[in-house]
Amino acid sequence: MDLKFCLAFDVGGTFIKYAIVDNSGKIHLKDKVETPGFPAKETIPRTMGNIFDNLRNKFDISCFGISTAGQINVDKGFVEYATDNLPGYSGTDFVETIGKKFNLPVFVDNDVNSAAAGEMWVGSAKETKNFLCVTLGTGVGGAIVINGEIHRGANFSAGEIGHFIIVPEGDKCTCGKYGCYERYASTSALIRMYKEELINSGLQVNDNYTGEYIVDLYYKGDKISKKVYEKFLDYISYGIANLTHILDPGTIIIGGGISAQGKPFFDEINSRFKKYVNETYCKNTVIKQASLLNDAGVIGAAFNAFSSAKII
Ligand SMILES: [Zn+2]
Repeated sequence: MDLKFCLAFDVGGTFIKYAIVDNSGKIHLKDKVETPGFPAKETIPRTMGNIFDNLRNKFDISCFGISTAGQINVDKGFVEYATDNLPGYSGTDFVETIGKKFNLPVFVDNDVNSAAAGEMWVGSAKETKNFLCVTLGTGVGGAIVINGEIHRGANFSAGEIGHFIIVPEGDKCTCGKYGCYERYASTSALIRMYKEELINSGLQVNDNYTGEYIVDLYYKGDKISKKVYEKFLDYISYGIANLTHILDPGTIIIGGGISAQGKPFFDEINSRFKKYVNETYCKNTVIKQASLLNDAGVIGAAFNAFSSAKII
């Protein structure tokens, strides 16, 4: 196989991770820089250009792949909307600022779709044509793959599963609505529910709790964390049972945050899922852990860029 290289970026609120990925999915170099500040629509492409300038003599780079937070117009390589985590990022045009500037093809997609592409290429969903990817982090993200293609929807927002309503008139979400899935199934939701339970029990609360801490207490038999963590696992499972009835994905890949503990988490989710899903409609649905972890974004961005440029 003729070796080709993609310079792939994974843009988050804190860091821009980047990697040189070849056309078999192997990473040859990876590093990260701090995400530059306002206005991100100028500073982020400039930072990417500097990284390219430093690497272009070492690798014969064929394309750029970008995985990023935000709502992305994949056809135009354009950031339709991003939150204030990346100030001034809405409206970033990667085709103009990166692609045309350096005369290379560029492909941009959101972080969860990119991670799903990576898992499909060389990760947990390898050789799987239909699956649902769920990331449980500070928020909840989703990506839907149908017949080997990412389903992006009419507004490039398919798979925004963090914002379907799971508790009518429930907790207020960052999106402005109430009772969204990510208010009940993310790590930040677990911490919030734990604090609420402490307050309800008349106990002291501090600001230093983490998901790991609460899970650790649960396995030590702590009553308050047991009550909260079991409810949390239920919410996650209700959500994926509902999505399974809609999509019948066959395989569900879960990554991020709390799922990193592996088997104990997946045992809990599997047994709850079986309880809530109607198995007549979705027999043999498999729930597994994402395997590429922090590299999923850059690997998936490279896959998307290589495929779109018809290199693979
Ligand atoms: Zn929401």
